[in-house]
Amino acid sequence: MRRTFIAGNWKMTQTRSEAVALAQGIVQQLGDTSIEVAVAPPSVYLDAVSQATKGSNVGLSAQNMYHEANGAFTGEISASMLLDLGCKYVILGHSERRHILGETDTDVNRKVHAAIAAGLVPIVCVGETLDEREAGQTQSVVQQQCDGSLAGLTNEQMSGVVIAYEPVWAIGTGKVATPEQAEEVHADLRKLLETRYNSDVAAAVRIQYGGSVKPDNAGDLLGQPNIDGALVGGASLKVDSFLGIIAAAK
Ligand code: PEP
Repeated sequence: MRRTFIAGNWKMTQTRSEAVALAQGIVQQLGDTSIEVAVAPPSVYLDAVSQATKGSNVGLSAQNMYHEANGAFTGEISASMLLDLGCKYVILGHSERRHILGETDTDVNRKVHAAIAAGLVPIVCVGETLDEREAGQTQSVVQQQCDGSLAGLTNEQMSGVVIAYEPVWAIGTGKVATPEQAEEVHADLRKLLETRYNSDVAAAVRIQYGGSVKPDNAGDLLGQPNIDGALVGGASLKVDSFLGIIAAAK
């Protein structure tokens, strides 16, 4: 049984006090839940949000990391530094990093290996652009991203990875994929995991959907058999809407 996992990606938003207040609001109002919940604040606020979420059932995620363990890499942050701050998860290969900052599958793959080696759970993002979808390339694009980003993982390592299917055209646009469109890609991804690894791995890996998830569309998306959670951007920035999505997941 895959545990539903809802994560909020705060991107490069929030002041320090806003981030702490948002985290405190989520912690205070979440209560007991069977849903796995995490928030990913900007890296400079990870420490403050870690204090606010300490001892709660809200996990801490980073939005990115570097693959090297330490050394002369100005501006970068290592997996062990994230662990030190209380992170359990790290988002890797988000489409904004792939498309705006030029991250490749090879870059993502190095980070995935480093994250797992350090004991972090990677949330690995894949997804097609609108042009790719319209050209009928959705399946080949996400397969290529998965093959490249997840290369060289053992079955055991892969079982602990979370995949986030995030169609680029649905991120921050208000244009959510229909539950059927999302389920089709999620089911294809699960078949791919069975082919590349085995049926146990395919059954274990959680595949989140991301792209304009809101409280009013979350229930239908999360009701699909192969959608195991959501990676949420805009709607994770308000306590009510984030908790509304978690409530819809129950
Ligand atoms: C995201 O950035 O991962 C995301 C899904 O954003 P939004 O929910 O705002 O579309």
